[in-house]
Amino acid sequence: KSGFVTVIGRPNVGKSTLLNKVIGEKISIISDKPQTTRNKIQLVYTGDDFQIVFLDTPGIQMPKNKLGEYMLKVSKSTLEEVDVVTFMVDDSMETGALDSYIIKEIKDISTPIVLLINKTDKLNNEEIMKLIDKYNKMEMFQEIIPISAINHLNIDKYIDTLKKII
Ligand code: GDP
Ligand code: MG
Repeated sequence: KSGFVTVIGRPNVGKSTLLNKVIGEKISIISDKPQTTRNKIQLVYTGDDFQIVFLDTPGIQMPKNKLGEYMLKVSKSTLEEVDVVTFMVDDSMETGALDSYIIKEIKDISTPIVLLINKTDKLNNEEIMKLIDKYNKMEMFQEIIPISAINHLNIDKYIDTLKKII
């Protein structure tokens, strides 16, 4: 069993921490070869009986010009081609417009979206429950998983979820 996954989210939510430090530290092959496809392989997670290929999807951001608009279009087609889109948020501080923008852009894709609420080490249980509730109401996430990438918290659940969906 194998599948393609991409992790998106605004800068600084913790995407690299999750991929490189947490998942990459276990079993990974980070490819140095130039990729022929437009999506760069970030790493390959090899479990006991499954493999998850994480792809980089740059360009999910507010386009500033024609090139940006083109990149967004390419990125959105990528989101339709992978098996799971992971959307990571950090609600431990004021989030602003970019999260809402991304949510608007991915709302209509047919690919299952897993939401990771990162940096829960900075939140109390009540705050976490409120966030889960808030995102649940959007009715667009197949799974909502509170994690702390830095503390390796709930990462196993994330991997299990991916394994089930792919
Ligand atoms: P990216 O831009 O989405 O790739 O974000 P990074 O992985 O570079 O992380 C941005 C910052 O958030 C770094 O200083 C990380 O150490 C920090 N960070 C990542 N995950 C966590 C977490 O679970 N808890 C806390 N408190 N900080 C985190
Ligand atoms: Mg990064």
